[in-house]
Amino acid sequence: MSDNRIIPYGKQHITQEDIDAVVQTLTSDYLTQGPKIAEFERAFATYIGSTFAVAVANGTAALHLCALALGVNEQSKVITTPITFAASANCVRYCGGEVVFSDIDPTTYLLDIHAVRRMLEAAPKGTYQGIIPVDFSGRAIDLKAFRTLADEYGLWIIEDACHAPGGFFMDGAVQQRCGNGSYAELAIFSFHPVKHIASGEGGMITTNDEQLYKKLLMLRTHGITRETGLFQNSPSFASSEKNETTFPGWYMEMQELGFNYRLTDFQAALGLSQLRRADIGLARRRAIAEKYFNAFNGKSYITGESGVVEGHAYHLYIIEADDRLGLYQHLRSKNIFGQIHYIPTHLMPYYRRFGWKEGDMPNAERYYSRCLSLPMYPTLTDTEQDFVLDIITQYFKK
Ligand SMILES: *Cc1c(COP(=O)(O)O)cnc(C)c1O
Repeated sequence: MSDNRIIPYGKQHITQEDIDAVVQTLTSDYLTQGPKIAEFERAFATYIGSTFAVAVANGTAALHLCALALGVNEQSKVITTPITFAASANCVRYCGGEVVFSDIDPTTYLLDIHAVRRMLEAAPKGTYQGIIPVDFSGRAIDLKAFRTLADEYGLWIIEDACHAPGGFFMDGAVQQRCGNGSYAELAIFSFHPVKHIASGEGGMITTNDEQLYKKLLMLRTHGITRETGLFQNSPSFASSEKNETTFPGWYMEMQELGFNYRLTDFQAALGLSQLRRADIGLARRRAIAEKYFNAFNGKSYITGESGVVEGHAYHLYIIEADDRLGLYQHLRSKNIFGQIHYIPTHLMPYYRRFGWKEGDMPNAERYYSRCLSLPMYPTLTDTEQDFVLDIITQYFKK
C-alpha cells in the first residue's frame, strides 16, 4: 500500500444512516431520558435474548451498578480473570470489596473453571461472594459450567460480555447468547468505539431478574424512584397537608445512594442504528478471522487460535509469537497498529499494592509475554488484511 494510512487494531464504522439518526434526536424534544433510551433497551434485549436491559453511561458504570445491585461491600471477595480490561476488577473495589484473581486457561485465554474450583475448594464456604467471568476477545465462556459451580458455593455471576454481543456457546443443541441471562444474574456490555456497537461512550446491563432490574433503574438515576407504590414516606409528609392521602405530582424519593449513570438519547439513537448492522459486522469479523487463521495455519512462528471457533464474536484476533516485541514494532513501522490485550490486571501497580506479584498467574503472564491483537474490524478491507499478512510473513522470513 502506497499511502500512509494507519491500520489500527479496531475501529468504529459510522454510516450516513447513523448520522441521520443522531441528528434527528438532536432536533427532537429530548436530549436525555427520552424515547430512544427505552427503544434501544428493548431492541438490545431482543438481540441478546434477555428479558430486561438497562442503558447506562459506559461499560464501567454498568459493572459498578451490577456490583452495587448484588450487594458487594467491604466484606466481599470476588473472583475474576487477570486477562481483561481493568474495569472488570475495579467495580469490586468501587464497592470496597476484595478482588481475587484466578488464572486463565492457556488455550482459550478465558477464566479457567478448574482453577476457580480449586480456589473455592481450598477456602471455607462463604469466603467468596461472586465471580466475574469475561467473554474475552469475543469468545463465549461456558456459563453453564460456571453456574453449576457458583450454585455449589452460593455465588452470583456477573458476565462481562463487552467483547461478545452476538457471541454464543453451545448448551447441548441450544445456542446460549452472551448476556442472555440464562446462567448469570447480570451481564454487561460497552459501546465504546472499539467495541462491536458504538455509541461514543455507552453501556448496557442485561438480566432476566425483575428485582435486580428495578434496583438498577433506581441506582442509574441517583437512587430516586417516582413509583407511588414504592414510596416510604407518607402522603401527608409529601404534600405537607396533615390529612392528605395521595402523593402530589412533584413527589419522588431518593431511597438508595445512586449515581447519574444515564445514557443520552442521541447516544441511544446511535447505538440503536448501529445495532441494526450488528449481524453484518459479526459476519465480516468472522470472515477476517478465517482468513487470518488459514494464513497462519501450520506456520511455526505463530501459535494461538486452534481454529475458527463457533459462536466467537471476534472482538479481537489474537496471535501468539515468540518475537512479539519485534513483530509489534515491525508492524508499527508499516503503520499497522497491533495492540496487547491485556497487561495482566494483577500486575498493575494499583493491584500490586494488595500483594499481587509476578508468578501468581503463570498462564496469564506467559500469555501476556507472547500475545498480539491484529487488526480486526468490519471495515478492514481485503487489501488491508493482505497487506498485514504480507508484512507478518516478511518479518518472519528475515
Ligand atoms: C471496554 C470494556 C469495559 C469497560 O467499558 P467502558 O465502556 O470503556 O467503560 C469493561 N470490560 C471489558 C472487557 C471491556 O472490553
